[in-house]
Amino acid sequence: GKLICECNACYRGHDCSELLPACVVDADNGDPLFLEPFWVQHAANGTIAVPGWHRISHHFNDGLLISNELKTRIRKLHEVTGNAVTKERFIIFWSWCNPTSQCCSAVHALLSSDPSLSRVVASTPHYPEQMEFFNSSGYKFDGDTFLYNNQIDSEGNFIEFVTSPNNPDGQLKKGVLRGPFMKRIHDLAYYWPHYTAIPAPADEDLMIFTLSKLTGHAGSRFGWAIIKDEFVYQRMLTYMLLSTYGVSRETQLRVLKLLNGVLESKGRELFYFEYQTIRNRWKQLSRILSMSKLFSVQELDPLLYCSYYEKLRGPSPAFARLKCEREEDENCNAVLKSVNVTGRNGSLFSAKSRSVHLSLVKGQDDFDLLLERMEMLVSEDKSSK
Ligand code: PMP
Repeated sequence: GKLICECNACYRGHDCSELLPACVVDADNGDPLFLEPFWVQHAANGTIAVPGWHRISHHFNDGLLISNELKTRIRKLHEVTGNAVTKERFIIFWSWCNPTSQCCSAVHALLSSDPSLSRVVASTPHYPEQMEFFNSSGYKFDGDTFLYNNQIDSEGNFIEFVTSPNNPDGQLKKGVLRGPFMKRIHDLAYYWPHYTAIPAPADEDLMIFTLSKLTGHAGSRFGWAIIKDEFVYQRMLTYMLLSTYGVSRETQLRVLKLLNGVLESKGRELFYFEYQTIRNRWKQLSRILSMSKLFSVQELDPLLYCSYYEKLRGPSPAFARLKCEREEDENCNAVLKSVNVTGRNGSLFSAKSRSVHLSLVKGQDDFDLLLERMEMLVSEDKSSK
């Protein structure tokens, strides 16, 4: 399968088998290339061809920008997974899924017509730089949710971001703020059975998802929002009409093809592959880290009941959140640098840089190298247990 895939930064050669020994293992980004082998195995289920004369128009046959067929598949997928309620809800597609862009439309839609400033908040640690992007007219990013925790009766216009499971610590989260003007955006990008137990279907006012965390196709830039309130939906639709004028029809076709394949086994083949892969990675990395006093790693519930698998399941987060435990290791990434590994600095998530986040979803070669180097670091450390 190597010939058809791209080499990562640590490998060269026509079949990507030549290792560059001094290369830096980048465990910073969350590019979900661990799914490449799955789609190689399921090539027929994921392949589309689009002749030059097809899909030229802006619109589908019904004159709309959003494929009804794809919407139906998305509803079906949530139904078989049991991770979100879609009955009597509106669905809109989005072409860039970072909270910044997708949520710009959501934030815009949620802004009250009241001219007073809306304050956007998120719980620490939260998704990186993107939040500060909300400092524009009409709203501003106002820091950690917990700063406003006791403003129960606040008259302020708050928009609270809730990311569950959270990036970067993998915890399931609920909204915190209460009050008459409270609105929430639930980023459920990781609320799938391979990253977390699904205790019950989410039934929030505004929920967002991205294809990249489901099937791995980050480059397709496809996401969707599930919305309870028609007015909010209409405002998001208007925002879409005025900004991107919809998601590329090639992308919608590709997503339809992928989801049809996934649904053939009610998601079992895909979710099984994903859960096994991430679960093994988490176990392997945890085992290495447990041999060292250099780091601690986030604590996750050892077993949670998952309604999709109908049994208890162990953790399989998309990121490991390491904390440097020695007094002198204030910059945790510097410790990893000694073995040529870079993770994402905790400070980017508005937490101290004593923590660093390692992605568990990259390609297998990348992950194997990461393990090798972490093992080296741990075994060289004299303070090891
Ligand atoms: N939400 C969260 C919480 C994420 O971590 C990410 C990506 N890391 C996204 C949304 C957006 O995903 P993408 O840009 O890959 O669609």
